[in-house]
Amino acid sequence: MTMIAFQDMPYVRPDMEALKAAYQKTIEQLKGAASYEEAKAAFFVLQEAEEQRATMAVLCSVRNTIDTTDAYYDGEMKWLREQNASLIPLRKAYASPFRPQFEAEFGKQMFRLIDAGLKTSDERIIPDVIREGNLCQQYQKDSALAVTEFRGEQCNFYGLLKHMESPDREERKEAFHAWAALYEKISPQLDGAYDELVHLRDRMAHTLGFESYTDLAYLERRRFDYTKDDAARFRKQVKEIVTPAVAAIRERQRQLLGVDKLRYYDEALIFPEGNADPEGTMEELVRKALTMYKEMSPETGEFFEFMVKYHLFDLKTRPGKRMGGYMTRFPSYQAPFIFSNFNGTSADVDVLTHEAGHAFQGYLAMRSIPVSMLSGSTSEINEIHSMTMEHFAYPWMKSFFGENSEKYLTAHLIGAISVIPYMCVVDEFQHI
Ligand SMILES: [Zn+2]
Repeated sequence: MTMIAFQDMPYVRPDMEALKAAYQKTIEQLKGAASYEEAKAAFFVLQEAEEQRATMAVLCSVRNTIDTTDAYYDGEMKWLREQNASLIPLRKAYASPFRPQFEAEFGKQMFRLIDAGLKTSDERIIPDVIREGNLCQQYQKDSALAVTEFRGEQCNFYGLLKHMESPDREERKEAFHAWAALYEKISPQLDGAYDELVHLRDRMAHTLGFESYTDLAYLERRRFDYTKDDAARFRKQVKEIVTPAVAAIRERQRQLLGVDKLRYYDEALIFPEGNADPEGTMEELVRKALTMYKEMSPETGEFFEFMVKYHLFDLKTRPGKRMGGYMTRFPSYQAPFIFSNFNGTSADVDVLTHEAGHAFQGYLAMRSIPVSMLSGSTSEINEIHSMTMEHFAYPWMKSFFGENSEKYLTAHLIGAISVIPYMCVVDEFQHI
């Protein structure tokens, strides 16, 4: 498709009947193919139809997350989810006798992905898959809508984060409590959805013949190269080596802040006089990022110019917008997209490096890898692209933080280390 700006990209419902017919036809062609060349041609015809469906689904999802109160995209998400689930039987029937030839040309990973898809989907769990998606959507919406008044200002979760790193201890504590109260206010909805998800996922796993949802989740996340035991061993090493290092960093932070005990509402403040905040408006930060990427390499420069030219961002936080940040892609346009919740802290710059690292991977891979399922990376290596870009960007931090750039670098390294035990806690909780 001819490239156009994000806001001009038309959303039209994918023609699901035509797509199902395309699947049927491809299944027949693959079965009857006289040669590998014939099978390959059939495969790429279907891939294009799938990319068009995916592009519409992603467009819908992005617009839904930008404004979860928009009833149109909220409804379309549910419609697409049901339609997508109805493709499960066709996707399962899809097989080629030319697997060795496909593997020889495109590598073994392609079939590991296909096999994982087969093992994690089944006609018997279609209603559960739909319900699971709807519950997640509702969960995101409930948290996106939560707002509170803090010192005369309307704040969502992201607005409060800025106050949670204030040099004023009372303000930090108050902000943290407002943040917790905001969760408390919506906890009946969140807990209800979460509890139903736990039972539903457990049931799905048993239906598919897995011992527990954890085993199913490993495959759903395409964790091919390590097991639950490996993850447990990694956690143990982190506990022995990284956790004491983080404790030492926190002790230094306590001394620097001059407090008797480092409390939960102190952790976000690294320097007593205040953390390093980026200098400039959102538009100025994007311009600085453009300069940085042009200086970094011709490839990154071309990539970021593309992002800016076609407005492939939605950066500012606002009520009704989904929490967090992510990068996604519109395959038919070969275009990445970056979503975040800017709130005036250094995390804004991290988005322009971290999410842009993911987006740069997508930008290059979509242009160099013909099999689209291989142009996405898996959770095993995703963060290599993004976190490496955060570090590649170090020499340019002066332009974002001025004389506070050293402070930013220190805080960034502290964050990179202390996030490791935190992630292990989250991961272990999810296992349990
Ligand atoms: Zn990431």
